[in-house]
Amino acid sequence: MDANTNDAEHVGDETLDPADWEQLRDLARRIIDDAVDYTKDVRDRPVWQDIPSDVRARFRSPAPQTGQPLEQVYNQLVTDMLPYPMGNIHPRFWMWYMGSSNFTGALGDFLAAILGSNLGGGDHAAAEIDKQVVSWLKEMMGYPAEASGTLVSGGSMANLIGLTIARNKMSGINLRELGVGALKAPMRFYGSDQLHSCHQIALEAMGLGNRALCRVRSDANCRMDVVALRAAIAQDRANGVSPACVIATAGTVNTGSIDDLEAIADLCSEEGLWLHVDGCIGALLAIAPKGKALVRGIARADSIALDPHKWLHAPFEVGCALVRDAKLHKGAFTVTPEYLENAPRGIASGEWLHDFGLQTSRGFRALKVWMALKEHGVAKFGRLIEQDLEHARYLTEKINAAPELKLCFPTTINIVCFRYDPGGLSEQALKRLNTEIMVRMQETGVAAVSDTTVQGRHCLRAAINNHRTIRDDLNILVQEVARIGNTLVAEDFHDKY
Ligand SMILES: *Cc1c(COP(=O)(O)O)cnc(C)c1O
Repeated sequence: MDANTNDAEHVGDETLDPADWEQLRDLARRIIDDAVDYTKDVRDRPVWQDIPSDVRARFRSPAPQTGQPLEQVYNQLVTDMLPYPMGNIHPRFWMWYMGSSNFTGALGDFLAAILGSNLGGGDHAAAEIDKQVVSWLKEMMGYPAEASGTLVSGGSMANLIGLTIARNKMSGINLRELGVGALKAPMRFYGSDQLHSCHQIALEAMGLGNRALCRVRSDANCRMDVVALRAAIAQDRANGVSPACVIATAGTVNTGSIDDLEAIADLCSEEGLWLHVDGCIGALLAIAPKGKALVRGIARADSIALDPHKWLHAPFEVGCALVRDAKLHKGAFTVTPEYLENAPRGIASGEWLHDFGLQTSRGFRALKVWMALKEHGVAKFGRLIEQDLEHARYLTEKINAAPELKLCFPTTINIVCFRYDPGGLSEQALKRLNTEIMVRMQETGVAAVSDTTVQGRHCLRAAINNHRTIRDDLNILVQEVARIGNTLVAEDFHDKY
């Protein structure tokens, strides 16, 4: 029977379930089999490939009014999607700061979707798992058991949650009721000039505006200059601006620098300010045997944003906001409309997990984290973080040993900033050359790094947050950057373009 039959006599019988479950079972098995091979053989494929125009055109066709067998839908994905990924599960992908996913996490996302539960709350097993993952993350950070937290889409949302609670608490008014128009004095938040861009968006969305965010200069190590921070706070107080919150970064996007969390925590307690730590990159160093010394003091924060889809390699998306004062957390977001009142027993008797953030319906993103943590244990994730740090040290040594390559910034964690620099070239020529090297490596699919500008110098940037990377991959990177650079210089590329 045609699965799309919609004759009048069938109205009322339609469902999204298949007509033939056994046929679905066969296809589902094939999809899983293919997925295992796809993951197992990732190293044999290019990191990335440009999408051919015919494939791209097929993604621009209008909405299908009628259906086709699922097998055909899947076949299109095999030819049109699977060969053209972003590439971050590949062992030689080191762009920005991504995780490299894991198969268990993918199974977790699948099972979460099979269960189909809404993690807005209620009394069911998935809600217990959601709360357990938050508890585990608190434990991993050294946060007290009575602290609060919530799983969100990622670090940007986790930061927004922390900063919103800080705003409400530090406003000194009933901000939820009155809004920012009722503030007695403009509020100020402080972060270093290396702060992630999501904080500006957060302050804008919070109604405080970009100017409420003071960028404190960073020192030679790209860490917030605490003397300058102290001076900025004093000056604001003198000018009738109300200092509210310091956003310390544990692992900046550019260089991986970690602000002096202890010194900033001391200053915040002296000044009575909220301390929020953006730990999207580095918070999880807290579970690494040696790495944890780098984030000493992180548990003193009033709120922490961290990102399991980065250093725990959970498939996208999952971030986490942790808040020391559970009452303040809940007080910032709870609303109980009549249709969401708690029942004495039954499905609606559980805690409403949507009370801890902005979403009402929430996905079961906890499961992929829960399964991988149960399978591997926290200690193994700590060792993998240590391994990334070790790889970054190794790459740094290789760069220092390569005559055409120059390190652009001392490596602190797993981010390595460097460039091809044969000597004697202008800053603009170096930027042109290194941009071309970066793009050519992506186009040939050999490796993927990104670029940035640190202290006025354009550089390539490898963020080695990848449990599949081995030393040989880093050797290939060093060889390829030098080889492509030398080829370009021989062609006078930097003069011609
Ligand atoms: C990645 C990152 C963010 C944003 O997190 P998303 O998960 O991408 O939303 C914020 N801050 C820092 C330091 C980051 O590295």
